[in-house]
Amino acid sequence: MQLEKGEDGRFFQSRHHLQKERGTKYLANIPFRKRFRKGVIHEWEDSIEKLEDFLMPNQGKISFKRLKKKRMKDDKAWEDSKAILMRIKGDSLPTRLLVGYGHVWLKVKPCIESVKQCYSCLRFGHIQLNCRSKIKRFFRCVEEFHGICKEQQKCINCGGSHPNIAKKCPIYQREAATKKVMAYKNVSCREARELVNEVANSLP
Ligand SMILES: [Zn+2]
Ligand SMILES: [Zn+2]
Ligand SMILES: [Zn+2]
Repeated sequence: MQLEKGEDGRFFQSRHHLQKERGTKYLANIPFRKRFRKGVIHEWEDSIEKLEDFLMPNQGKISFKRLKKKRMKDDKAWEDSKAILMRIKGDSLPTRLLVGYGHVWLKVKPCIESVKQCYSCLRFGHIQLNCRSKIKRFFRCVEEFHGICKEQQKCINCGGSHPNIAKKCPIYQREAATKKVMAYKNVSCREARELVNEVANSLP
């Protein structure tokens, strides 16, 4: 069993003892750094098959996947985007890939994960499917879900008076910065969070 994300690993670890008691053995090996790194390529206009054909050898164990994007007019439908996700085995992400008999370099950007938010309890860091809170919160007053609400708008994450999906929420910003640090420095979520907090605390 291989775990892709540090987060999934930690989630798995917390359930590890539980599984063991039931007599199932799992090996939860939580890597300090990820075993894979992900990058995004924007400059390849052709198919993934062609890219695999044209890729020069000896650049690592790499796989590609076409990224999807939401369709402009109807955001429930997804369509192929021009961007390609690359996954490379190991600790380091190259800044470019050599293709086409060594003539062309494709730029590779670190892949930044988006901040997850739960639409049930409204907290960051997980989605509704993995929510362990028993309360479904009302979007506005963040109390347990109820009918017409005349309360003040409140943010469950920072206590501020802005909507719960606002990107100006300082907690959201901290989460987003953490994802950036994870991608660019290739560190675990915990390390990235420490770095972000250090910077935030050193500001006047
Ligand atoms: Zn939740
Ligand atoms: Zn309410
Ligand atoms: Zn907030």
